[in-house]
Amino acid sequence: MSINQQMQKLIRDQDFNNKCKSCGSSDLKYEGLGEYKCRKCGIITLNSYGKIREYIGVNGIATPYEIMAATGVSRNEINNLIDKGDLKMVGGRIA
Ligand SMILES: [Zn+2]
Repeated sequence: MSINQQMQKLIRDQDFNNKCKSCGSSDLKYEGLGEYKCRKCGIITLNSYGKIREYIGVNGIATPYEIMAATGVSRNEINNLIDKGDLKMVGGRIA
C-alpha cells in the first residue's frame, strides 16, 4: 500500500479530526504509522492507530482491554483496525 493510500485510510479514522492536539492547526503532515506532525508548532498528533502502536511499542503486546484503558481508543475502533489488517490479534492479545 502506498503512503498516499495509507494516508487516505488513516484520515477516515473516526477519532481523528486532522487537527493539531496542541495548537489546533489543521496544517498537518502525515509522517507515517499513525503520526501527524503539525507544520505550525511541530507537535506530533497520533490517531487511534498511532496511539495503540505507541502503547504496544512501550508495553509489548496487550489485551484489547488494556489498550482501551491506556489509550482511550474504543473497542469498536480496535476491532475496525483489526478488520483493516492494521492490528493483529494473537491469542487474545493485540500485537
Ligand atoms: Zn500545532
